[in-house]
Amino acid sequence: MDKNAKRNRRKSKKVCPKCGGNSIASILRGYPIFSEKLDQDIRDGKVVLGGCCVMDNDPKWHCNKCENEW
Ligand SMILES: [Zn+2]
Repeated sequence: MDKNAKRNRRKSKKVCPKCGGNSIASILRGYPIFSEKLDQDIRDGKVVLGGCCVMDNDPKWHCNKCENEW
């Protein structure tokens, strides 16, 4: 059971549509609640902060490899 769940999670991992890189951070908008986990995620490159202004067509993902955002 656990092994299958892990495999599925890995399979659904995001890749960059531009360079195919799989080091993808989710862009966090608004005012996130800072916590140790969020801080760690930012340092790990899993999350980038997109600023406080939320617009309709904001990109949701950020590629750590080529800086592409979509
Ligand atoms: Zn990329």
